Amino acid sequence: MTKKLILAALSACVFATPLSAQDAPDIELWRLDCGIIQLSDAAPFSDTHLWDGDERTLTDSCYLIRHGDQHMLWDTGLPSALKGTSATQWVFTLSVERTITEQLADLGLTPEDIDFVGISHYHNDHIGQASEFAHAKLLIGRGDAEAVASGAMEETRAQLAPWLAEGAEGEVTRIGMDHDVFQDGSVVIKGMPGHTPGHSTLLVRLPETGDVMLTGDLYHFEEQVENKGIPVFNTNRADTLASFHRFDQMAENLGATVIIQHDPRHIDRLPAFPESAK
Ligand SMILES: [Zn+2]
Repeated sequence: MTKKLILAALSACVFATPLSAQDAPDIELWRLDCGIIQLSDAAPFSDTHLWDGDERTLTDSCYLIRHGDQHMLWDTGLPSALKGTSATQWVFTLSVERTITEQLADLGLTPEDIDFVGISHYHNDHIGQASEFAHAKLLIGRGDAEAVASGAMEETRAQLAPWLAEGAEGEVTRIGMDHDVFQDGSVVIKGMPGHTPGHSTLLVRLPETGDVMLTGDLYHFEEQVENKGIPVFNTNRADTLASFHRFDQMAENLGATVIIQHDPRHIDRLPAFPESAK
């Protein structure tokens, strides 16, 4: 290569223009209301007795992402059957005001428009409406998929049966740790085990709003970020602490907007439905 050509190549690198707005992925993020969880006693949310006897209200949020002409749900909330009623299990009283399908209709979408269902973990308040999108591809942490397939959780197994039951035909990706959903870095599932064996969080890199990190149930409420409170029902305490560390560092390095999915105080960190964050 001649000196002139080398210089030309170097200057092309140095002065390479950044991606134009037209090249940036076309993405929107909506917060959906996927239920309410009343806690008669928050004691189970700390294995060091941080909240014994406290009553709390948790929101149950799930999320819709449009990437070009493709759509992804992140978590599917409590079961539709809870609409117009409520159920009490242990310290939890669960209810649903509107189903995901009803909220999709407000946006002119039907369940068939959903291409991917990503779930943070296998608990009932995150997979409750999953089977209504059985044609979509399921994205699930491998550790969770294996736990469900082992048959330990009857209710969970039914909701995920279209993908995880023996002989099921639903398309599924079992994620080892991280997974770049659209292969352009814009929507990335980040493995953060500990709450469950395959628990995951989601990074959404929006063109205008910036980076948004959805916690799954790594954290349930804001106080946990400071006091590192760990629920008694987490499957691995050490993994949870390691995941707190990874999540907090990532959020700080990216300057991301953190949304704790169950904390009602975080609802207004995204526009009110049907508005979206862009
Ligand atoms: Zn939850």
